[in-house]
Amino acid sequence: MLNIGCHLSASKGFSHMGKEALGIDANTFQFFTRNPRGSKAKGIDENDVKGLLKLMEDNDFAPLVGHAPYTLNPCSAEPRTREFALEVLMDDLVRMEHLPNNYYNFHPGSHVGQGTEKGIELIAGALNFILTPTQTTVVLLETMSGKGSEVGSTFQELRTIIEKVNLDRKVGVCLDVCHVHDAGYDIVNDLDGVLNEFDKYIGLDRLRAIHLNDSKNAFASHKDRHEKIGDGVIGLHAITNIIKHPSLRSLPFILETPNELPGYAQEIKLMRASFLLAE
Ligand code: FE
Ligand code: FE
Ligand code: ZN
Repeated sequence: MLNIGCHLSASKGFSHMGKEALGIDANTFQFFTRNPRGSKAKGIDENDVKGLLKLMEDNDFAPLVGHAPYTLNPCSAEPRTREFALEVLMDDLVRMEHLPNNYYNFHPGSHVGQGTEKGIELIAGALNFILTPTQTTVVLLETMSGKGSEVGSTFQELRTIIEKVNLDRKVGVCLDVCHVHDAGYDIVNDLDGVLNEFDKYIGLDRLRAIHLNDSKNAFASHKDRHEKIGDGVIGLHAITNIIKHPSLRSLPFILETPNELPGYAQEIKLMRASFLLAE
């Protein structure tokens, strides 16, 4: 079975997201752990969490993905910005333990002129600061498109970060299809080659989730604008190859396409049908 869902709004709570997911035939989803701009998180309602855990168990859900605010920058040049990132990351990891054994995804950050090497150093330092041996959450580094001074747009950079992390078993990677395409990995014409390179530098066992997005921009544009499945330059054929690839097909696929719920429902239907037809 294809494990697929989409990004959902967390504003009405965990159980509500679970019901929304069921309503669009999803068996996973992603949510922001707090306002995407990084403000204070709401308290956790234990009954609300219990409701979601029960719903997930009853309906064979794949792991969920909590997404950190995208404004966090653990490799900022500004010490206060880095400190804020650490506070949010630590607090989010405590909160994620209310939903054990799921994923917490974050954008590695932008080095803002300090250089990639310094950026990598600071990101690995942040991970060494926040990870604990007893946590059940696996923290995922998202592959980035390489806009501005983003760190993590090459598999080599992600590998170098992970190499510097002591509790590296708590770290994985989330591959964003739009981002790797925009970063210059040719998933349209050479998916096997890209996955071989991922395996060579990072190891496919680290790949834990996929952000399934088409792209508005050209190959290697370093732009990062998501498009609906089939409406972008990646296209339905290449995206179908991704969901049915033997190394990927059992992972959770999260749609982050420009859609409201009905659009997501349609895309999930399309992806489930393409997955079955392609067998
Ligand atoms: Fe993201
Ligand atoms: Fe993404
Ligand atoms: Zn993106």
